[in-house]
Amino acid sequence: MSDTILRVENIYKSFDGTGVLRGVSMEIREGEVVVIVGPSGCGKSTLLRCVNGLETIDSGSIFLREEKISGRTKDLHLVRQKIGMVFQSYDLFPHMKVMDNLLLGPTKALGRPRAEAEKEALEMLERVGLREKAYALPRTLSGGQKQRVALVRAMLMRPEILLLDEITAALDPEMVSEVLNVVIDLARSGMTMAIVTHEMRFAEAVADRVLFLEDGVVLEEGRPEEFFHAPKTERAQRFLQSFTYASKREA
Ligand code: ADP
Ligand code: MG
Repeated sequence: MSDTILRVENIYKSFDGTGVLRGVSMEIREGEVVVIVGPSGCGKSTLLRCVNGLETIDSGSIFLREEKISGRTKDLHLVRQKIGMVFQSYDLFPHMKVMDNLLLGPTKALGRPRAEAEKEALEMLERVGLREKAYALPRTLSGGQKQRVALVRAMLMRPEILLLDEITAALDPEMVSEVLNVVIDLARSGMTMAIVTHEMRFAEAVADRVLFLEDGVVLEEGRPEEFFHAPKTERAQRFLQSFTYASKREA
């Protein structure tokens, strides 16, 4: 299918003999947002890291569009350019202004003219509400602002797909929504994404499809309204219940 952006086929990955991914498959179509949830340690980060080549897989295959990207050592950086990734920790270079952080990839890796890339960067900063921070140093930004810059930086590489790994996990609560609203905006604009998050209300709002990963396998997959309101497996039910609290007043 030509509109498939990412296809992960039966991948296995172990660390020190322990299977962390044990036959994971997934497919993400153009413009689709797939949210991956599951308990800590189930393999979510490893899955995303395998997709963008930060980890090698033991077996199985990964395709970007029709191109096989797993198992290759040549031109790995060219493949990685097409896959944007943002992590929990914003890794902006502290000594470089926001704009210089943003332009590093587009000018050095993609060879785009600086003026043209800078114009686009300013437009994108405007879109995420950070136009006035364009020439500030990262240390003058809040955590939420840094993550919005990290999203802009990833988007300026014009990736085919964006992988987000718990990008709000280190933020103060009031900063979470300012970052997640940018992600919703990107989703609406048609960006293809795989998102790992523990923000369940955001997950439900942004997802076209949800994968529930447990102990290295996809235990359940479905539309968000199904998964969050009528999960099929007992394990997913328990997982979702862990996000709710019993009331003090109802014994
Ligand atoms: P999640 O993101 O779902 O919390 P991870 O993918 O980070 O889970 O980790 C899955 C399992 O793999 C965990 O048991 C973790 O300790 C282990 N693991 C992850 N990366 C490594 C590594 N580089 N070396 C050894 N074990 C690892
Ligand atoms: Mg993780």
